[in-house]
Amino acid sequence: MKKLASLFCLIFCLFYAEGQPVNQQSGEPFPIRGFCISAPRSADLKNFIKFIEEELVPRKVNTLILRVDFNYQFKNYPKLRDSSALSEAEVRKLVAVCKKGNIRIIPQINLLGHQSWAGQIGNLLKVYPEFDETPYVKMPKEYEWPNPDGLYCKSYCPLHPGVHKVVFDLVDEVCNIFNANAFHAGMDEVFYIGHDSCTRCGGRDKAELFSGEVWAIRNHLNEKGRQLWIWGDRLLDGKTTGMGMWEASYNNTYRAVDMIPKDVVICDWHYERADQTPVYFALKGLTVVTCPWRMPDVATTQAEDMVRYRQNATPEMKERYAGMVQTIWSPASAFLKNFYEQSNASRVEYNTQENCFNVLYKTIKTLTPAP
Ligand SMILES: [Zn+2]
Repeated sequence: MKKLASLFCLIFCLFYAEGQPVNQQSGEPFPIRGFCISAPRSADLKNFIKFIEEELVPRKVNTLILRVDFNYQFKNYPKLRDSSALSEAEVRKLVAVCKKGNIRIIPQINLLGHQSWAGQIGNLLKVYPEFDETPYVKMPKEYEWPNPDGLYCKSYCPLHPGVHKVVFDLVDEVCNIFNANAFHAGMDEVFYIGHDSCTRCGGRDKAELFSGEVWAIRNHLNEKGRQLWIWGDRLLDGKTTGMGMWEASYNNTYRAVDMIPKDVVICDWHYERADQTPVYFALKGLTVVTCPWRMPDVATTQAEDMVRYRQNATPEMKERYAGMVQTIWSPASAFLKNFYEQSNASRVEYNTQENCFNVLYKTIKTLTPAP
């Protein structure tokens, strides 16, 4: 949790990390300065901790979304662990270094969608195939898109009577071990939802199914004083906006933007244009952070926009324009390798996630907070 005081001594207390307020930082352009990456494997932990200490802390990154999924040695569900997964002692090292650097860790497990990737089924549906929304869709030997099944990623059925017991136990365990007061549930790119073939979901309103799942996860977290973060793409209308079926929704889940609880934080990802969608989310009463990936020019505009939104907002709206989160979509090992190679290279390739991270944080340093 961070407190932010602007140059003009306007103080916002937005969140609490580790359950404790941390020292306020003056002069930052917006409260949340984030970084999102898959949790490192054990072999990369030392290097990752070095990166946190030497790169994230000096840049005043204060929010680390760690995509853990099954890369933790879950005690309640050992069968769901990846073959190589972080131990409790290793996670405690990560927690300690982030606490020291005033970085709030938000662990992520993909819920609802992203239960498979390419031709590989994810651990949840491997162990609990009965949770599969589309069990008749078989995983292909060689995945290609498009395909006759419209298979991008598998989903679990949000109305299966057993699914929440398992996934909420995982959520609790990962939040406990990371000492987290917020959890990121993913929930992006959900193509299989309310499928006609599902005896529970078939024929139901997809926006209601999506918002029902958001409410269920949010209420579970809320009982323990934790906050829910999700990706924003399912809440945008892909057809009307022209943003398409990945960056936005083509299956009518977008109306859920008016149904979900207002205390969910939206990670609004746009990688090729600085879409003005944070205004849309903020107008709906939702707190929003903008997430770039590998185009530094887009990230720069998005960061400048975030300051402009805050400058031209009522006090009620201003708080909802919460900041920026750089996303990394390779394994942590590949990111670290490229990042350090880039740091030592005489010529840097421009549109890479490593360079985008560097440019975004250079930009943030130059921005002046809104009065
Ligand atoms: Zn279903």
